[in-house]
Amino acid sequence: MTVKPAEIEPPRLGEPYLLTPGPLTTSYAVKEAMLRDWGSWDADFRAMTREVRSRLLDMLGEGGADDFDCVPMQGSGSFAVESMLGTFLPADSKTLVLANGAYGMRTAKTMEYLGRDFILLDKGDYLPPRGDEVTQILADDPAITHVVAIHCETSSGILNPVEEISRATYAAGRKLLIDSMSAFGAVELRPSEIRYEAMVSSANKCVEGVPGFGFVIARKSELIAAKGNCHSLSLDAEAQWSHMEKTGQWRFTPPTHVVAAFLEALRAHADEGGVPGRGSRYTRNRDVVVAGMRDLGFETLLKDRWLSPIIVTFFCPASPAFEFERFYDLMKTKGFIIYPGKLTVVDSFRIGCIGQMDEHVMRQVVTAAAQALSEMGVNDASPPQAALDERAKLAA
Ligand SMILES: *Cc1c(COP(=O)(O)O)cnc(C)c1O
Repeated sequence: MTVKPAEIEPPRLGEPYLLTPGPLTTSYAVKEAMLRDWGSWDADFRAMTREVRSRLLDMLGEGGADDFDCVPMQGSGSFAVESMLGTFLPADSKTLVLANGAYGMRTAKTMEYLGRDFILLDKGDYLPPRGDEVTQILADDPAITHVVAIHCETSSGILNPVEEISRATYAAGRKLLIDSMSAFGAVELRPSEIRYEAMVSSANKCVEGVPGFGFVIARKSELIAAKGNCHSLSLDAEAQWSHMEKTGQWRFTPPTHVVAAFLEALRAHADEGGVPGRGSRYTRNRDVVVAGMRDLGFETLLKDRWLSPIIVTFFCPASPAFEFERFYDLMKTKGFIIYPGKLTVVDSFRIGCIGQMDEHVMRQVVTAAAQALSEMGVNDASPPQAALDERAKLAA
């Protein structure tokens, strides 16, 4: 297969670029794929579902498709996370939830709703949970059966060290589940390199589809063992899987148009060179926007070692002339929707690197930011000292 660099189209009809971590800017071909109706029971649609599942499994690399299977699940990404937790955590399990941001905390909240026993390692806004901490907690509490980790914690943009978390988990004889929502498709998650039992992602992140469903990718032996675990009829991934295996159909109404769009997105993903191809475009996007913003005086929350190619958090400038709402509006009029930050200690904003954008677009983002600063009368984009003190807590 020949790998083509992605051809990035300019946004249409003045549509702004979404510099957000999903929904994100999609291609015209992906949108166009939604212009036709499909019968959910029909053979054509069943073939589409089959192709979606097998293309997703292909992203696991060597051997992945033998040991794992893919279960699409209706709803946004959080529905898929809840499906994974409810399906693979038995009623008598105890789980260690590793949190360093909003999505880790959402997993903890989901565990409360599920009524499953868990303990939380909360590292605050962004500090990564480390392998040695996992080792210690698992040694101290033999009742823990599972660990849940967030791959890219989208609230700060940190790429968590899932390899060392996996090593610590399996060295202690426990099982790992991963929320790879915002990373899968752009960052490798090969079971031959990182051991885990199940992971989740969704249609509207790095594969560049539109929102409407997520998918659980799990070891087949875990799927078989999960029968009867789930608290929820509609979110039961084992039931969805056995039904799909038997009939080729989703159990309940599938988001047909979204599936058609996603299939188009998966084909473009493969044409771009799969996970490495997609990952390198996003990495380039990140490098260009980070270098350009640093030239303007902005600082990133994270040191380089922890920056993901998915989304980057920048500190708001200390200048009294800077006002985030104004900056947001100015960026929007220039064609870019940015994203507010989620830090509790200092003000910040985020710029996503994923979606139908390339480095040329990212250069325009930097130019737009420079213009917005000058229109606001901000001469210096450097952050307050408190932000730099905060960042000093993070090891290089
Ligand atoms: C996007 C995302 C989710 C799911 O969010 P939804 O709004 O439900 O789609 C979960 N975890 C992470 C890390 C995410 O980035």
